[in-house]
Amino acid sequence: MRAAELTAYHEAGHVVVAWHFGLLGSRDATILKGKDGSLGHAHVNFGGRIPRRVLREGRVKNERQRQIIERQVILSLAGFQAERMFNNCARRSKSCGSDDPEVIELLELIVWDEEEMGHYVDFLETRTRNILRRYWPEVRAVARALLVQKRLSRAEILKVVLH
Ligand SMILES: [Zn+2]
Repeated sequence: MRAAELTAYHEAGHVVVAWHFGLLGSRDATILKGKDGSLGHAHVNFGGRIPRRVLREGRVKNERQRQIIERQVILSLAGFQAERMFNNCARRSKSCGSDDPEVIELLELIVWDEEEMGHYVDFLETRTRNILRRYWPEVRAVARALLVQKRLSRAEILKVVLH
């Protein structure tokens, strides 16, 4: 049960933060997989792409691109952060808990050096935790529904979140 609970909170973290940003996947389901429910998947919409030219040139061009990157990083951090908060694990590790390190690397399009990168990742981790804290009852409700149903459609997620 423990593994499934952790996974449920992990996926609920992604889902509730996506909902907060208006980026819940439009037609997909969020599911718990595996015999013991220790694998999960949440469909979220990333809310925009960074143009290839910008990736090549290595520098964002405008505020919108910066916002897209920040939201992608926060969405990516939300799973592990929710898991940690559920587990009451306050320890801060230097390796930041993200599903997708490449998403974190997108921050290189914004920052100037390693010092800024460290602060920026810290800031986004704090922001992620604050969003999760603000919506913790919703995170818990989604996680519990996921544990019971194993699979939640967008409509079911909205029903749970908006109770
Ligand atoms: Zn995840």
